[in-house]
Amino acid sequence: MTAKSTKPAYTRPNVPGDPENELAAVISSAQEVLRWERTLGGAGFPAPQAASPLQAPRGGPGAHGGDQDTQTRLQVLADEAAECTRCELNRGRTKSVFARGTADTDLVFVGEGPGFHEDQQGLPFVGRAGQLLDRMIAAMGYERDGVYICNVVKCRPPDNRTPLPTEASACAHFLVPQLDLVQPKAIVALGRCAAENLSVVPPAGRWRGIWGEWRGIPVMPTYHPAFLLRSPQFKKPVWEDLQSVLQVLNREAPKRTR
Ligand code: URA
Repeated sequence: MTAKSTKPAYTRPNVPGDPENELAAVISSAQEVLRWERTLGGAGFPAPQAASPLQAPRGGPGAHGGDQDTQTRLQVLADEAAECTRCELNRGRTKSVFARGTADTDLVFVGEGPGFHEDQQGLPFVGRAGQLLDRMIAAMGYERDGVYICNVVKCRPPDNRTPLPTEASACAHFLVPQLDLVQPKAIVALGRCAAENLSVVPPAGRWRGIWGEWRGIPVMPTYHPAFLLRSPQFKKPVWEDLQSVLQVLNREAPKRTR
């Protein structure tokens, strides 16, 4: 056994612009991210539970739950979206992507628009970003299908580009009644596009992590999971945003034992 040293750790004097100090800062911020990741079970957000089989496809091809009237109205909207030609995005559509999860929930996530896998399967967030979103949902203590997930636009933009304002406003024809019908207690806007289309981006300054409101429903704008895949150092502020959402919902994140 090695005796523990009682010597205080050596701290380099802080010389501005010194590459060694910059390296130390990078290491320290990486250590902070790792410490946080460990609290979430190793690789960022904990692994999601296996997806529970979806019930009868009501409220959109991948969504279920809510009372009968809500389900019927959502299904009518989903059917309309599948045939929609309100904007040019329909030309590249394999399948429209309306929603997944349950309409009988207090929490809705709104993303930007379908990507390749979503367009193929007709379900939102089923690619890599979707797997990370599932881990975020699990970290909050929800079942994968215990929330409602949808997008600003229901058809895939070419090359996964951000939807144009004209496309987003054409598709508000679906998003607005969709959110009105589900009536969650909180909405998480995933990424700037969703935040802008829910009108919760302040005219200047920071937009992430600042509560806004959409038709009386609290909206938390946070970073998109696809951005987190490229920049995992921002998982920590996103987790803080999600914890703030849990507070508004009077819920607590489950304690992680790993
Ligand atoms: N990104 C989104 O914003 N939505 C999806 O459904 C998938 C990826």
